Amino acid sequence: MNGTGMMKQSTKKARTAPVIGGRPDVPRGRGEETVEESANAYTVEADGLGCEICFEPFGDQIFMCKNGHPACGTCCIRMDRICFCAEPIGDIRCRPLEKVLAAMTRPCTYASYGCREIVSYTGRRSHEEDCPYTPYYCPFDGCTYHGMQLYNHIHDRHAASAVVVPTGSRRVAVRLEKKMPFRVLLHGDGARVFLLLNGGEVLSGRSLSLVCMSPRPMGKAEARYKMEVKHWRSAPDTPVLLSSGAAPLVRRLKDFQARGFLFVPDSYWNIGDTVSVTVHLTDGW
Ligand SMILES: [Zn+2]
Ligand SMILES: [Zn+2]
Ligand SMILES: [Zn+2]
Ligand SMILES: [Zn+2]
Repeated sequence: MNGTGMMKQSTKKARTAPVIGGRPDVPRGRGEETVEESANAYTVEADGLGCEICFEPFGDQIFMCKNGHPACGTCCIRMDRICFCAEPIGDIRCRPLEKVLAAMTRPCTYASYGCREIVSYTGRRSHEEDCPYTPYYCPFDGCTYHGMQLYNHIHDRHAASAVVVPTGSRRVAVRLEKKMPFRVLLHGDGARVFLLLNGGEVLSGRSLSLVCMSPRPMGKAEARYKMEVKHWRSAPDTPVLLSSGAAPLVRRLKDFQARGFLFVPDSYWNIGDTVSVTVHLTDGW
């Protein structure tokens, strides 16, 4: 049902969910119930329900100008509370539309992965950000795997490209080539997948950071780490580069923007354009 929502209007006889084709165990006279149910269920194109300015789905609050143009709260602020038609916007709520959207429900997007939640149009995004059934996407280019078993998938399919943190240890040395967008670290606990990201968007060096790809940490605590890069010649005038931070949970690499990183200047990469990065998982779940 992607891309559409169902609107239900409650009446005394309406069931909680529309039934297509009817229940086989209920004898029907002339199909009156089917007629009543289909009269109370509507299919709506989700495309027509977003903010007309940023095209994002509406949240809890919808505003409108005197001319009836609806906008989300973020757009009202972004437009300095002046609608594109030049009327003020941001004070008047569009309550009927808010009410309709709050009443629209559908199963969570990840129902096929096991989630049983029924979410409202407006509550969907906040549920799905935290939904424990959101799949993890394999980060390797060209691989289409997404699911809950990313560790096993990488172990089985991409073992040659992964570095396994020794069991019982929290420290591992990773050889990173300049042209590699990331290296995968498989934790010795048999569950956690980390990526050492090699950001290439910076002049005169690379930016390294660590993210956790799965599983979702308990209580949302992010795993903490320290990272260390030595100059390939280890000369006295070349300091050891150090950073520490929390590894954010990333389910899909292409949507991710790093918050902090360790900058490794070009001079730290050896003639073969590699560095050795020591990653120390300092705590976490
Ligand atoms: Zn908007
Ligand atoms: Zn307007
Ligand atoms: Zn869910
Ligand atoms: Zn894969």
